[in-house]
Amino acid sequence: MQAEIIAVGTEILLGQVADTNSAFIAQELASAGIEVYYHSLVGDNADRLTALVTQARSRSDLVVISGGLGPTKDDLTKQTVAQLLGVKLVQDDSAMAKIRDFFATTGREMTPNNRLQALYLAGSHPLKNETGMAVGAFYQAPDGADVILLPGPPSEMQPMMVHQVLPLIRKTYQRQEYLTSRVLRFYGIGESQLVTKLADLIDQQTNPTIAPYAKRYEVTLRLTAKTTQQASTEQLLTTMIAEIKRRVGTYLYGYGDENSLANVVVQQLIERHLTITGAESLTAGEFQSTLGAVPGVSAVFPGGFVTYANRAKHDLLGVPQATIDHDGVVSEAAAKAMAERSRQILDTDLAVSFTGVAGPDSLEGQPAGTVWLGLAQRGRAPQAKLVHLAGNRADVRMRAVMSGLDWVRQ
Ligand code: ATP
Ligand code: MG
Repeated sequence: MQAEIIAVGTEILLGQVADTNSAFIAQELASAGIEVYYHSLVGDNADRLTALVTQARSRSDLVVISGGLGPTKDDLTKQTVAQLLGVKLVQDDSAMAKIRDFFATTGREMTPNNRLQALYLAGSHPLKNETGMAVGAFYQAPDGADVILLPGPPSEMQPMMVHQVLPLIRKTYQRQEYLTSRVLRFYGIGESQLVTKLADLIDQQTNPTIAPYAKRYEVTLRLTAKTTQQASTEQLLTTMIAEIKRRVGTYLYGYGDENSLANVVVQQLIERHLTITGAESLTAGEFQSTLGAVPGVSAVFPGGFVTYANRAKHDLLGVPQATIDHDGVVSEAAAKAMAERSRQILDTDLAVSFTGVAGPDSLEGQPAGTVWLGLAQRGRAPQAKLVHLAGNRADVRMRAVMSGLDWVRQ
């Protein structure tokens, strides 16, 4: 909530009257917790006032204007602002009665321009003038910044500000709720399985709400909490996340819309000062390309290998011909050899290998989606695991990459 204040009046602009209104208004707004970002000053000039109010509304949520609500020719704030907002001026009947009364009791003649003081912006909340004639207005714009019009004389403006504007401001802006969302990202668990494990939480959800969303290769949950205090909103989210973690925490790899699995893995490697490489057959560089998309990856990734054909596995990595001939390339032995050899060649802490059947055709008698992943770690024997991945060729290759990243994360 950002407010700004405009003082209108040529006498203020010329320095004949000091702008005490803006200081008063700023302090009152501050007491209601509203931040004021700008104070401006403009003379009694419709064009310049229009330009200033337009600018103010473009950058603030609330514009408070004092001055120029009176009956004389130079008082043009109301008319100018009404035109700018595209609303009419309408009469406040009780203010009109008060003006008539005043002229009747003082025996003076009421001129037509005095009616002007009883007008306020159509659709706004009129602000009574306890110590004068001109009504003020609190205009809540259907689109864009709200506008408050106050009379210039401090004796009129101050009670209006304290007795009417502040209560309205509190009512309008301060019950504002803090809405906070958090996105939880999961890999290795399907949407239906995730939803089943969280069924009771999702059924009872009110605050925070829990919205599952299945992306192509992963599932996300968006938690949204709202309360009137930021700290309580955070607390609601923290409590719910703790419960979700207790149930499905092993699949939770990260938070945030932008935080991909590759991002999380690269950040982990950077923090742990570990380097990584890859030896890729069916993924043909997709793993390294995915790592390469993360800014800062050069600190942990020196490069790697694409070894598509058997000959490349042998010639580039030194996978033993016997392994290729005896076990086949879609095998535990090949996956381990590819990972360990690439790790040794580039002297990294970790290496992941990918060898399998992207499809649509089978290979070595194994169906599409059959993938061996290898993981080599410095000082340990290499490991391998077999996964069966669903989908078309592109899906199998991408899921293989995600599985490899997820293995490194764990
Ligand atoms: P009026 O009905 O008296 O004309 P108005 O709403 O039209 O009220 P102005 O004509 O702009 O207000 O100002 C009337 C007087 O109020 C000024 O001459 C000045 O003494 C005082 N005043 C106006 N604006 C300010 C301000 N920002 N700070 C201090 N005094 C102000
Ligand atoms: Mg005036």
